[in-house]
Amino acid sequence: MSRRWKTLVPCVSVLLALAGCGAPPGPAPRGFAPRYEEPAAADAAHARFLRARRLPERAADALNAYLDLPYQVTVLARSCAGEGSGYDPETRRIELCYDDLTQERELVTTDEEVADVMTETLYHEAGHALVDVLDLPYGGDRAEEDAADSFAALMLIREGPDGERALRTAAEAYARTPPDPDDGRDEHAPPAARAAAHLCLLHGAAPERHADLADRTRGCTPTWPQARDAWTHDLAPLLR
Ligand SMILES: [Zn+2]
Repeated sequence: MSRRWKTLVPCVSVLLALAGCGAPPGPAPRGFAPRYEEPAAADAAHARFLRARRLPERAADALNAYLDLPYQVTVLARSCAGEGSGYDPETRRIELCYDDLTQERELVTTDEEVADVMTETLYHEAGHALVDVLDLPYGGDRAEEDAADSFAALMLIREGPDGERALRTAAEAYARTPPDPDDGRDEHAPPAARAAAHLCLLHGAAPERHADLADRTRGCTPTWPQARDAWTHDLAPLLR
């Protein structure tokens, strides 16, 4: 009797663990899911800034309200020791680097502007995640980088005047970024071209609010309707 009991207890424990204590297993998590790693000591202030502003949470909320992902993509804020923010298809993780803020603070002045630039980065990386989710025919090349930029513009323009301000701040930060002569393998367009592309979409989407951009953006491509329609066509399977 006691021997059977001893055998039974581990079996019951294993079964309960497997079955979640008798409850049916829940659906697999899906959608963009923010998470924070402990920062390196040097990044502590940057981590506090991201948490206080809830930038990963706010971007994830906006993305999840717009799109229904078939699986979970983690938005992980972490110290990257200068590697730079990115999307990793192996782990399905957007890595938003605390240490990026050191560089951003050299390009813009106010906390509001830093938050705007980081939000554009979040949406750019979400664009890469969506290229992966949708299996779009890019190969991590310049065309994919341009598409990720136009996805960031789309998300910010969808938010109305506040998003437009963030897009304009990010564009102006790109315009102030010196080209990196040592990084010939960078697939991104040169910073000046990224700035011009953002301003082109911004003026195309809201010409009255950004009338001062008319001269700088005349004849620019892709136009706002081209960029918006390309993404909304590709996103169709995920749209809520
Ligand atoms: Zn990119």
